[in-house]
Amino acid sequence: MASLLCPSSIAKPGAKLFGIQNASGHVEFLDEPITVDKTFVETARQGRAPEERFRFASNCIKTGCGHWTGEATGCGLVGKIVDGMNRNAEATLVTCPIRDRCRWYHQQGATACASCDEVVRNVRVAAVLA
Ligand code: SF4
Repeated sequence: MASLLCPSSIAKPGAKLFGIQNASGHVEFLDEPITVDKTFVETARQGRAPEERFRFASNCIKTGCGHWTGEATGCGLVGKIVDGMNRNAEATLVTCPIRDRCRWYHQQGATACASCDEVVRNVRVAAVLA
């Protein structure tokens, strides 16, 4: 199986753009992820940090990430977000183009998705974890 994807990746060439923050601050998920290139990343970095406006996914790097808590427990960030947001899972999942490979969904299922549309790296994650 292909490696799971971290749904809170930085903007970097090869990352998959899969969500865009709308005017109300919620993330709208794309129908299909778009693999971004160096030009996209350089252009996006000329404005507000792209991680505060977009959602990117990249391969979960496990031990290379500070949120990794081990093979048995996985990513520690999603549990903190779920606890911090304290939302119930929706009966109908929002459409998300990376779900079949999403690390957070793999670990926490629909509860992760219920908390996901307000997460943008750098801003909301910091607020939730404060
Ligand atoms: S937690 Fe759910 S909504 Fe968020 S990226 Fe993963 S599959 Fe998509």
